[in-house]
Amino acid sequence: AKQSGRNRFAMFTQEMQAHSTRVLLIENALHSALENNELSLHYQPQFSLSDKKLVASEALIRWNSHSLGRVSPGEFIPIAEDSGQIVAIGEWVITESIRQIREWIDLGYPPLKVAINLSYAQFQEPDLANFIAQTLEACRVPSSLLELELTERIAMDDPESAIEVINAFHDIGLETSIDDFGTGYSSLSYLQKLPVYKLKVDQSFVRNMINDENNLSIVSAIIALAKKLGMRTIAEGVETQEQLDKITSLGCDEVQGYLLGHPVPPDEFEQHHFSNESH
Ligand code: C2E
Ligand code: CA
Ligand code: CA
Ligand code: CA
Repeated sequence: AKQSGRNRFAMFTQEMQAHSTRVLLIENALHSALENNELSLHYQPQFSLSDKKLVASEALIRWNSHSLGRVSPGEFIPIAEDSGQIVAIGEWVITESIRQIREWIDLGYPPLKVAINLSYAQFQEPDLANFIAQTLEACRVPSSLLELELTERIAMDDPESAIEVINAFHDIGLETSIDDFGTGYSSLSYLQKLPVYKLKVDQSFVRNMINDENNLSIVSAIIALAKKLGMRTIAEGVETQEQLDKITSLGCDEVQGYLLGHPVPPDEFEQHHFSNESH
């Protein structure tokens, strides 16, 4: 018994080592990701449910590493957050998404809002609102075309300072949504003080609501809460017609998900989602 216990321990430490080696490899490879142009943004459409129109797109980062191949943001973003590299990566995301908005305007497409994801460390940077304002100005892009997505955890970790930061965004005309809503621990009293534009119902509820009454109740409660607070709602991760019908009947405002469009590179986004007549 002792022997097998030791083996199990050896296996465990081996796994831990393999894990920390991968983390180190990613951290190292990230150092050159920006210089080597290995990062790009894909865009996923968001549609309004009332008139089925394209209303915005979410920018999602992609990394094709020279040494590691494709690494998903689900894997490298948390590592970049721990190492502090997320601040530089986040600035790149801001600059690149604003440049893309400008390019789409110059190509004659109807102005489309782009939502970007912010990490906790970025949100803590005192200069963030200024940096965004300056980048928008340099590209002559109106602030109404950029939206910021914060997770519920970011917004609620230190609600008092979150209110200040979100107000600063609001003052320069940026709309804010709360991502992954329902998975964190929102204080309802703070939620009503945040000038937040939209709640994104977390995918896990959308995925489970068809088979699970409790999940359905949560989705329906979030939509009702948002309405009372004057916020819009978007359901993310919608993959089936059944889910689409359900969120429509619950009065959700917008939808995002594989059913209506995957995240794709900008040229594919143009082909699929900008109609030819308007070009
Ligand atoms: P998120 O912000 O919650 O983004 C939604 C994720 O769900 C994306 O995964 C998207 O590709 C995926 N998704 C969209 N529709 C569906 C669907 O119908 N079904 C399923 N199963 N998935 C769907 P992705 O692109 O792998 O990104 C994962 C996470 O990485 C994001 O979750 C976000 O937290 C983070 N992330 C991505 N880009 C950035 C970025 O530029 N900055 C920061 N800080 N985080 C980012
Ligand atoms: Ca998001
Ligand atoms: Ca989300
Ligand atoms: Ca998420």
